[in-house]
Amino acid sequence: MAYEIDLSGRAAFITGGTRGIGLACAHLLGQAGASVTIAGRSVQEGEVAVRSLTQAGVSAQFVALDVTSEEQVCETLARSASESGIDILVNSAGVARHRDTTNVDAELWNTVVDTNFKGTFLCCREGARHMIAQGRGGAIVNIGSISGIIANVPQNQAVYNASKAAVHMLTKSLASEFAASGIRVNAIAPGYVRTDMTKGGLENPVWAKIWLDMTPMGRVCEPEEVAQAVLFMASKASSYITGEVLTIDGGYTLR
Ligand code: NDP
Repeated sequence: MAYEIDLSGRAAFITGGTRGIGLACAHLLGQAGASVTIAGRSVQEGEVAVRSLTQAGVSAQFVALDVTSEEQVCETLARSASESGIDILVNSAGVARHRDTTNVDAELWNTVVDTNFKGTFLCCREGARHMIAQGRGGAIVNIGSISGIIANVPQNQAVYNASKAAVHMLTKSLASEFAASGIRVNAIAPGYVRTDMTKGGLENPVWAKIWLDMTPMGRVCEPEEVAQAVLFMASKASSYITGEVLTIDGGYTLR
């Protein structure tokens, strides 16, 4: 029996949708029929991303948004909800910082925790408020990380790791809380994905060797491979799955 994921008539809001994993999600959800709103801070990158989506036949728009600002998150998601509704929320906005913990300062802590944890929390809260008001349920997919499960090496990034563990627990807590409203909440925990975030590490032969040696499949993940899992979690194909943290890491966390 042929099975096709069809998101026609669904509206997806994707933070961090201007590049990397978020943009790959926008392409795939859009190709499945959803209209997509991508959000990020850089207007220039957002406009380029919307052009690439439109050229691929996706109904797409960009909104400028800094997820660390509660005011901006509230305003932007309210506007999006009133214009198109929000059926699917993908939280991909995130930042990684590597530094030995004894040198971590308030600036690093605030940047990482406010973007990865607070930003994801705020978008989940506002997204859920609108989904509940719309009365037709919804799907939230948070991008966590294997860094929320294991302590990466050789780079030290304790604050990032803890922020991603927080995203995983937030996902489970919200899945439990919002289930009665028909909102499923899941997370994806990718290993190393080829994006701007990992460019420096992959260009460092020492780091790249360690990362790849520790990955049974012996290669990094492409953003589209994460997007396929997001599409699954955003669609009816995962209709009885909630509170799951789906690891996509080429086997990294097996060892
Ligand atoms: P990129 O750096 O390629 O993209 C990050 C995206 O997040 C951009 O669109 C960026 O846009 C946006 N963003 C960053 N800060 C903010 C902010 N304050 N407000 C709004 N948007 C913001 O990273 P990836 O695509 O690789 O990462 C996406 C997610 O996946 C992150 O949560 C990351 O932690 C996670 N992840 C990545 C892995 C990897 O190996 N790449 C592995 C595991 C998890 P702008 O800067 O214009 O705001």
